[in-house]
Amino acid sequence: MFCVECGSEDELYGHLCRNCLLSKNLVVPPEYLTVEVCSSCFKVMEGSVWKAMPHEDMASTLLATATKTHSQVEKVRWTVPNFSAEKGEHRILCTAHALIGREELDLDFEVRMRIRLQRCPSCSRQAGDYYEAILQLRIDGLDLKKAEVELAIEIDIVFKTLDEHAGTAENAFLTKYSPVKGGMDFYLGSLALARILANKFRSRFGAVINESPSLVGMKDGKDLYRSSILVRFPSIREGDVVALDRTVHVVESGDGKILVLKNVRNGKIVRVPTGDVHLRIVAKFHEIKEAVVVTHDRSSIQILDPDSMVAVTVSKPPYLKRFGETVPVVRYDDALYVV
Ligand SMILES: [Zn+2]
Ligand SMILES: [Zn+2]
Repeated sequence: MFCVECGSEDELYGHLCRNCLLSKNLVVPPEYLTVEVCSSCFKVMEGSVWKAMPHEDMASTLLATATKTHSQVEKVRWTVPNFSAEKGEHRILCTAHALIGREELDLDFEVRMRIRLQRCPSCSRQAGDYYEAILQLRIDGLDLKKAEVELAIEIDIVFKTLDEHAGTAENAFLTKYSPVKGGMDFYLGSLALARILANKFRSRFGAVINESPSLVGMKDGKDLYRSSILVRFPSIREGDVVALDRTVHVVESGDGKILVLKNVRNGKIVRVPTGDVHLRIVAKFHEIKEAVVVTHDRSSIQILDPDSMVAVTVSKPPYLKRFGETVPVVRYDDALYVV
């Protein structure tokens, strides 16, 4: 067998030798490519589906579909470099990787990329202040000014969960959120997502959940409901420091009914009901201070009182095996405790 064009007896690709094959148009990209990008969330459209992925990745997927290839090219994929998603036409140098036999051939092309900006359905609903549920996070007696500090972990969970679902759930967006008396309110585009969050808070922190729908109007002949999901957290929580019968304890965990407490003097664990009348809060987890360690031995630590900067010697909790230049402390009954 030999090449039908030059007669070479080298390895053949179909009827052609490698040199003759490379002289052909192996890859023909489209004249231009349009990528639809959402102007607010930067999702990109594939067919009629909005997807959370970089516009460059979508461009390479669309390019592969729109590219014409020589019959000897088994497969083509594209590398599209980073470029800004500004509207209009961009001339971008892209690389086609054409699979021929066992070999991948790299070919550069300047591709005309047209970026078209619009709003995806969830962003357009969001722009109209659309929401299906208000997730109300509450702690008894919480000051409005402290809500964001006290609920920092929960707020983080809300945003992380929204991120996780942004690519798959249609209305996984936050219309607005604000601290209120007793906690935080989150206005969510998706009731399903609000329920997922409420369940997370129930299983992780022992929160008590109460969902109440209210009729807000009609849409397309159907009743339109919005739901308020009240999430009540226990007032004593993981990481807080409490006094039980005047002995300082750290809250190890709590499921809403039982608190697991660790004695800072001897490390002993006790379990008490959440509503135990002998319990007093010494410090919320975010009120715990750090004190500089001056020196320490097996059972005691000399620290600088964080308020007066005077050196004081206090007993070292037996569970505190390793620590750095500072240790967490609380003040109770005018004495400092390392916790
Ligand atoms: Zn040839
Ligand atoms: Zn969007």
